[in-house]
Amino acid sequence: MKVIVTGGAGFIGSAVCRLMTGLKGYEVLNIDKLTYAGDLRTLASISARDNYHFAHQDICNRDAIVKLFDEFQPDAVMHLAAESHVDRSIDGPADFIQTNVVGTFALLDVARAYFDKLPADKRSKFRFHHISTDEVYGSLGSDGLFTEETAYAPTSPYSASKASSDHLVQAWHHTYGLPIVISNCSNNYGPYQFPEKLIPLMSLNLLHGKKLPVYGEGLNTRDWLHVEDHAEALVKILTEGRIGEKYNVGGCNELTNIDVVKRIFDTVQEIVPDISFENFDEAVTYVKDRPGHDWRYAIDPTKMQNELGWKPKYDFETGLRQTIEWYVNNRDWWEPILKNKYAGQRLGSAKGQ
Ligand code: NAD
Repeated sequence: MKVIVTGGAGFIGSAVCRLMTGLKGYEVLNIDKLTYAGDLRTLASISARDNYHFAHQDICNRDAIVKLFDEFQPDAVMHLAAESHVDRSIDGPADFIQTNVVGTFALLDVARAYFDKLPADKRSKFRFHHISTDEVYGSLGSDGLFTEETAYAPTSPYSASKASSDHLVQAWHHTYGLPIVISNCSNNYGPYQFPEKLIPLMSLNLLHGKKLPVYGEGLNTRDWLHVEDHAEALVKILTEGRIGEKYNVGGCNELTNIDVVKRIFDTVQEIVPDISFENFDEAVTYVKDRPGHDWRYAIDPTKMQNELGWKPKYDFETGLRQTIEWYVNNRDWWEPILKNKYAGQRLGSAKGQ
């Protein structure tokens, strides 16, 4: 199966490329613009594989994307390229509209024209898999879960741009017959996550003797899924999901932010005993809440489990320890990011909160 992966140099896309190029029968073309969040070092372990290719390109550049489709002749597209950080979307929404909405439109348009020209035997197998977030559903109160039927109610520029892209993908299926599938996932964590996100941010702050900035009272709740579990779910959805369907992907690890930060503190302290803080209370600093901060996200993954037989492999404790150990042992990956690309960015906030 020849698969175009957009955003394959990002956190989740690189996990998908690493997984898929190690499976029998897959060939991957990664199309990535290499924004601040894209990093080819995440793909160093697979860059020499014969079944992996890379194109440095913006999904909004329609002519270039047409050419890549024509040359590669994909059987499927997995669309992960996006601006993905909520706080950045609040500070500067334009890039989010451009890539997440206009870019998804451009990619759909190219995929549709390509699909229409395919011979019948290839058309029946073609898939456009759009990767999205649970944030499109807005916020839950203290109970209930997001199902595939939950109405969309996005609240941030990021989630609104992702909701828009989901609607475009649905429309290209209903109007033009493009064979699509959409997945909406909860918060991912794991190795190679950009240091602006909650788990690396807090871990690296502790390694540097810096305080842990927590929004509000830290009581907002998120569901956490290890990125390798997400990548496996995505391959299953691509190959076994039903056309036109949505699948919610979650880890059933619902935790308040303060609980996650406490677990990070305890784990870092176990791995690196000489951190600067005597105890958790000394390490935490509560900062002004994010505007429009959603209260709670939680996924009902029943459809994934019953229909596709998918279950996450990592429990949160094991996954968190593996992730923190990876950051402790891979300074050469994140130190240049902190020094160069990330210089001047806000350090006091993180997705996941
Ligand atoms: P990321 O920010 O780590 O990576 C995004 C990648 O897209 C980067 O490599 C970047 O260079 C690339 N990119 C951005 N704009 C582009 C453009 N115009 N053309 C080509 N490439 C471009 O994001 P991520 O965390 O890996 O998320 C991947 C996808 O999964 C996104 O669509 C996101 O909305 C979705 N998602 C993420 C999470 C999460 O917790 N991280 C959860 C659910 C869904």
